Amino acid sequence: MQALPAAALRCGLAAFLVAAAHAAEVSLDVGHTLAARGATSARGTSEFDFNRNLAQQLGDELRARGLAVREINFDGLVDTLAARPQQAAGSDVFLSLHHDSVHEDLLQEWDWDGTMRTYSDLHTGFSLFVSRNNPHLADSLRCASAIGASMRRAGFDAALHHATPLAGPARQPADASNAVFYYDRLVVLYRTTLPAVLFEAGVIKHREEELALLDTAHQRRMVDAIATGIAACLSVDSAAAIPATARNEEAQPR
Ligand SMILES: [Zn+2]
Repeated sequence: MQALPAAALRCGLAAFLVAAAHAAEVSLDVGHTLAARGATSARGTSEFDFNRNLAQQLGDELRARGLAVREINFDGLVDTLAARPQQAAGSDVFLSLHHDSVHEDLLQEWDWDGTMRTYSDLHTGFSLFVSRNNPHLADSLRCASAIGASMRRAGFDAALHHATPLAGPARQPADASNAVFYYDRLVVLYRTTLPAVLFEAGVIKHREEELALLDTAHQRRMVDAIATGIAACLSVDSAAAIPATARNEEAQPR
């Protein structure tokens, strides 16, 4: 009998754990739209294109691990921010996929392929955001930390710049070592009934990191790391995983 590769065994175990708990479904949201495409990379590619490519690959990986995937805004045509979490209602977790920029004060100009573009080589790395106004803050935070920890184990660098006001508004760290920060007023994170996380894959204004984010092997490793984090997060029974103190804190009026 041919031995199964270790990766297949790991995937099988994750799928089994998830299936044993419940039929888990991940809502994957492509950040921005065809009409408003988000940031522009150092070489002129729109953030929406980066986000959609990552979402398509991650969706395939999650399905391969036995998770259900609900695709949100894969066509780039969603009307409003609030429609995104509305379309996710009933799934187990909402993950919005983005690529990062930096504050415009940090941008410099360069000539790329005959066109003047803007870039900044100051900041790099992935980051994750949760909202304290989300009705399931502890679950949101647990999933964000699981994804961040998995990314770090896979060799990706956590962004450091979100905690400082130098690169934009300073965000309060929620789990700084895993690059998780609070972003309380993001509509997609709080106007919802389910745990929600926003993921920034890296800084596309950074000339080297942009090239890494376009590299298929790099994308493959990242998708594997994110999926591992999500599978780990969803395989834990949430009521058992949340300490009593955290549940009490969540019940406090804000
Ligand atoms: Zn974005």
